[in-house]
Amino acid sequence: MRLPTFRREGFIIGFTLLCAVVAAATWLFAIQGGGDESSVIRVDSGWGETEITARLERPVSYRVFTLDDPRRVVVDFEQGAWPEGSAPAALDGSMVSGVRIGLFRPGTARMVVDLAEPARVETALFEEDGFHLTLEDTSASAFTAAAGAPEQSLWGTRNLPGSLALPRGPRLPAPGEPLVVMLDPGHGGIDPGAMRDGLMEKDIVLRAARTIGAALEATGRYIPVLTRSDDTFLPLDARVEEARRIRADVFISLHVNTVTVGQAQGVSVYSLSETASDKAAARIAALENRADILAGVDLEGEGSTVARILVDMAQRETNARSRALAAALVQKFDAKDGAIRSNPHREAGFRVLKAPDIPSVLIELGFLSDPEDRARMQSAAWGEGVAREIIAALDTWAEADRAARALVRH
Ligand SMILES: [Zn+2]
Repeated sequence: MRLPTFRREGFIIGFTLLCAVVAAATWLFAIQGGGDESSVIRVDSGWGETEITARLERPVSYRVFTLDDPRRVVVDFEQGAWPEGSAPAALDGSMVSGVRIGLFRPGTARMVVDLAEPARVETALFEEDGFHLTLEDTSASAFTAAAGAPEQSLWGTRNLPGSLALPRGPRLPAPGEPLVVMLDPGHGGIDPGAMRDGLMEKDIVLRAARTIGAALEATGRYIPVLTRSDDTFLPLDARVEEARRIRADVFISLHVNTVTVGQAQGVSVYSLSETASDKAAARIAALENRADILAGVDLEGEGSTVARILVDMAQRETNARSRALAAALVQKFDAKDGAIRSNPHREAGFRVLKAPDIPSVLIELGFLSDPEDRARMQSAAWGEGVAREIIAALDTWAEADRAARALVRH
């Protein structure tokens, strides 16, 4: 059994001492299967710190938050397919009094860590052997102050560098305040997207999203958040909902195209319209919208007529802002030779662009059916180049957008 990697020097010293002096003072508990390699959960307690290891076969999106009265730490795992389990009754001396795990709702597994004492989450991350949650002592007042509000926690952000402290409250970013950019790598999991010569759209766009995310964060002007940061399936509406839940300022969906007839090359940018600008755009929207049908997602639930009208009103303003963003993107991509084809900005009814209040665009980054595009997209420098164009476009757009919105409010 591999010992978990402890990240805090103090704890390593504490842990070593503990092991050396009183072996019995190290608590090792296991749910499921009685403590052998098949255990789902393990709790290791040391001085002032407890590490909980949950063995998951592969990393999934997760969010962590604390709840008061009774005190507990909650971890939700998206797409989690876990055996159910509960902790042994006695976790004496540990700050953890119990661990339960199980299906929370379809597609989400929840782990609840009951706390014997107030604790704060020191680290939460995936490593090779599974999910690691490290808890540290804290005061009762600090625990209460930090507890609650799942809004504070995010899905699918673990592969981005740095911390992602999100601003709270209504999103009317002041000049100089970073914009929250939701990057949406298309497809994933059972839905590979376009495929050619062993290359899959879902992999290419995920790699691009990570590179773009890192570049956006490095500017200090943007806070990137990914809808998915691994190879999991996400319904289209869930991507939009997540963008709204975290109050994203911009939503950028990333895709890769393919054609079976004729030739096509380069980048194209799409914004939302119920009436497609041309047949090809309509065909592409239909292809991208198929993702949910493939995965058997229910497409019902459009809401009442009144709600629909309110949404439509918000959507009109948002659509204008989306079109401006798409135009800025086309202009930046166009500045690079050969990176664009004719008619680069198109409109169609993409489901994933339907957030009523968030400017949203979909970028088809290139064509898997084109040998040059294929080579370009596999090169190491490709993602960074794309990131530069996107940042340049966002900078131009954000300045104009801020000015326009300030005028509207006066
Ligand atoms: Zn796609």
